[in-house]
Amino acid sequence: MTEYDAIIIGTGQAGPSLARRLAGAGNRVAIVERGLFGGTCINTGCTPTKAMVASAYAAHMVRRANEFGVTIGGAVTVDMKQVKARKDAIVAASRNGLEASLRRNANITIIRGHATFVSAHEVTAGGEALRADSIFINVGGRPAIPAIAGVDTVSYLTSSTILALDYVPEHLVVIGGSYVGLEFAQIFRRFGSAVTVIESGSRLIGREDPEISDAVRQILEAEGIEIRLGARTTRVSAGIEVTTGSGTVRGSHLLLAVGRRPNTDDLGLERAGVAVDSHGFIEVDDTLRTSVSGIWAMGECNGHGAFTHTAYNDFEIIAGNLLEGGNRTVRDRIAAYALFTDPPLGRAGMNEREAVAAGHRVLVGSLPMANVSRAYEKSETLGLMKIIVDADTKAILGAAILGTGGDEAVHSILDLMYAKAPYTILQRVVHIHPTVAEFIPSLLGDLKAA
Ligand SMILES: Cc1cc2nc3c(=O)[nH]c(=O)nc-3n(C[C@H](O)[C@H](O)[C@H](O)COP(=O)(O)OP(=O)(O)OC[C@H]3O[C@@H](n4cnc5c(N)ncnc54)[C@H](O)[C@@H]3O)c2cc1C
Repeated sequence: MTEYDAIIIGTGQAGPSLARRLAGAGNRVAIVERGLFGGTCINTGCTPTKAMVASAYAAHMVRRANEFGVTIGGAVTVDMKQVKARKDAIVAASRNGLEASLRRNANITIIRGHATFVSAHEVTAGGEALRADSIFINVGGRPAIPAIAGVDTVSYLTSSTILALDYVPEHLVVIGGSYVGLEFAQIFRRFGSAVTVIESGSRLIGREDPEISDAVRQILEAEGIEIRLGARTTRVSAGIEVTTGSGTVRGSHLLLAVGRRPNTDDLGLERAGVAVDSHGFIEVDDTLRTSVSGIWAMGECNGHGAFTHTAYNDFEIIAGNLLEGGNRTVRDRIAAYALFTDPPLGRAGMNEREAVAAGHRVLVGSLPMANVSRAYEKSETLGLMKIIVDADTKAILGAAILGTGGDEAVHSILDLMYAKAPYTILQRVVHIHPTVAEFIPSLLGDLKAA
């Protein structure tokens, strides 16, 4: 049995940064990885998908070249082998850089293999027995496979396996009209696939406000993506044939994009006494301590965020509290994320429904992107901006920017929310012209009661 000061399980978006910080403070750290260095974000999540979004955007803009006075000689085709090679090179550079940075550190020992708990402070991995007073779990999640009749009889794709395609599917059927499914739907439509999205709910991205969902649907439909709402899949069969309550869809490939589940079922958590909830997420307090003293859980597996930035912030909270005597908690975090379709949707804080449900007297500002001069100049006028403020306190409660640059511009609002400043401050900010963000003060000048 080898004794360490800390064991970290998983090299996702929190583990490696924590390993470096703990090692820098003089601790002997073991970090265990059973798969690819960098976990989901680098290998099967953000990095590869955003590389493919960039290829899809290039294909889309080349097809629109004439609108901008640019002449392209000949038909536009997508070489999927090259798209994949570019994406793989970007992913490999990130993964290799991460692995090299960990291997360079004399205080960090890398152990390759699947880690399982033997007891609260003992872990086995790669044939080795390890012990530490402090153990940090960063095991992430994986695509959920829905219990649909026939699912075991068909060759389906997940958000991970679809990344290995080096050809353009003839007709991609996507089950799941939420963030992951919609990004792939638009990517492959722009590469040249016919695409059908099947969503059991009455709207796409059902957690967003209805006008945002509707605008995203219109944008995708205008590109030729078929969207079937209120269509619960009852059976899938080879072919590909997808039967829903409201008809059958036939395609060449099937992508299952119905959510993710935490990698906590094969970790031996019961032997350590670490409590999980009914969905398998590790239960943590506001400082990310589990039910067992000396064990923390970071990232997707603790159920407090399904994003790279939330996993990284978990590292910051733990490192701040353990190494800097801080008092940081997940409660200080404001929800923020993006849907990286084109145009993207940048989101911060609550939506209107959540704000009303939380008891706020709400004022709402809304502006079509067609009114934004920069969007107009770029001929990218689809979408809208929306902001929600508390009529009594003047606090900004949330925002959605669906439009060109929306994933960046929303940070001007998010930053003010962290500063806990009233919206009237932002109203007087002089933003650079011509940008998408310059319209945020105008948006605040025309607030209406919800
Ligand atoms: C298609 C897709 C697109 C995405 N796009 C974005 C985006 O644009 N922006 C964003 O913020 N988020 C995005 N996400 C989400 C983001 O990738 C994840 O939330 C994030 O990577 C989670 O990080 P993590 O640190 O919790 O775990 P992970 O990154 O999943 O890492 C966990 C690691 O632990 C290892 N592991 C698991 N169990 C064990 C074990 N028992 N022993 C040893 N090792 C183990 C795994 O092999 C893995 O390497 C996307 C996700 C997907 C699927």
